[in-house]
Amino acid sequence: MKNSGIEMREYDYIAVGAGLAGSIIARRLAEDKGKKTLVLERRDHIGGNTYDFRDPHGIRVQKYGPHVIHTNDEQVRRFITRFCEPEDYRTKCEAVINGTSTPSPFNFKTIDQFYGAEEAAALKNRLISYYEGRPSVTVVELLEAEDDDIRGFAEFLFENDYRPYTAKQWALDPSEIDPSVLKRVPVVLSYGDTYFYDKYEFIPKNGFEELARSILDHPNIEVRCKTDALELISFDEADGRVLFDNRDCRLIYTGAVDELFQYRFGVLPYRSLHFDFRSVQQKSFQNTAIVAYPQEPGFTRITEYTKMPYQEGGGWTCVAYEYPVPYDIRAEKGNEPYYPVLTEESKAAYERYRAYAERFPGLTLCGRLAEFKYYNMDQVILRALEVSEELEKRI
Ligand SMILES: Cc1cc2nc3c(=O)[nH]c(=O)nc-3n(C[C@H](O)[C@H](O)[C@H](O)COP(=O)(O)OP(=O)(O)OC[C@H]3O[C@@H](n4cnc5c(N)ncnc54)[C@H](O)[C@@H]3O)c2cc1C
Repeated sequence: MKNSGIEMREYDYIAVGAGLAGSIIARRLAEDKGKKTLVLERRDHIGGNTYDFRDPHGIRVQKYGPHVIHTNDEQVRRFITRFCEPEDYRTKCEAVINGTSTPSPFNFKTIDQFYGAEEAAALKNRLISYYEGRPSVTVVELLEAEDDDIRGFAEFLFENDYRPYTAKQWALDPSEIDPSVLKRVPVVLSYGDTYFYDKYEFIPKNGFEELARSILDHPNIEVRCKTDALELISFDEADGRVLFDNRDCRLIYTGAVDELFQYRFGVLPYRSLHFDFRSVQQKSFQNTAIVAYPQEPGFTRITEYTKMPYQEGGGWTCVAYEYPVPYDIRAEKGNEPYYPVLTEESKAAYERYRAYAERFPGLTLCGRLAEFKYYNMDQVILRALEVSEELEKRI
């Protein structure tokens, strides 16, 4: 075990990970309870997967894929806008199916594009009456409908989008994947053409890195990047102690839980991503910020950052082709665990890790990797606020 030169007595908590989860918990402990936290981050930057930077043309680009905060929760908005000025925004996406660009999530325009005028009118009316009062439904619900025409529409979408997309994104057949994943993208029962339908949708005006910096900016918080915390953490199983640099500590851990416990119950499955960033000398590359290509081999989607939200690139734009790739713990640096692959088996494996973690009262798991959940940012923010409250009660 490395000697860190870190004086543990100076801190009340160690937080592993400077993503939203680690940063928010550190901030709450700092300002509500006057507790000192050392935040350790393995990467050379803060912000976790929300991190952004400016490319050579001054375009703000998100290194780990397109991120926009969307939420219906007042508490989330109130908390996060203390640390950034929100730039209201509505993400728009398209999907290219059989060579035709159609709104994503699919909507009534999709029906107009793929059906004759009469058939389209009948199908839209049928959907409106079948799902009376509902703004959207999931493809799973459409597939289970008793109406043959609705099911036929669902099967068309499923075979041309969901099935090939799932195969590429997850390397699985849709039947193997947790239904919650298929339910994430709705089918909209109107001409509404935005990607999310939450009450609030915004991007921090000065970017996500600045947001993270502002959350961490407190005299009771110290941040060290390029520091792998696992080199300093150990567990005394017999006594249920968590040790940092061989001294007892209270640990908030937001990294991958299987890695924390040296894969003792096996490797939890993730999908990783590879982003191919390209600078293109043209004002606009595609119609919308994100265009999905379910049927294209290799990449799943292209994000155009000058449309996220609108940015001036001086005649240039920046696009990122997104390739799902296997996650491999032996792979060279850069192969990150992005999406937990949620199946019955993987959820059971995670449960063993969670139960084992409970043996250590000084350990708190929070965030998408530590909890093996497909969390959106608003869910992580809420979770971090909840966890801070639980920690504060114990103080
Ligand atoms: C491609 C993509 C697009 C997304 N788009 C959206 C979106 O538009 N809207 C939305 O709401 N959500 C989106 N999300 C989800 C969002 O990224 C997460 O909800 C959020 O970033 C999770 O924050 P976190 O703090 O839990 O994890 P992370 O951001 O992953 O932070 C964990 C940090 O811990 C660090 N770490 C791990 N192990 C160690 C260690 N041993 N020592 C030191 N540091 C360590 C990691 O380096 C990382 O920085 C998207 C996710 C992906 C993959």
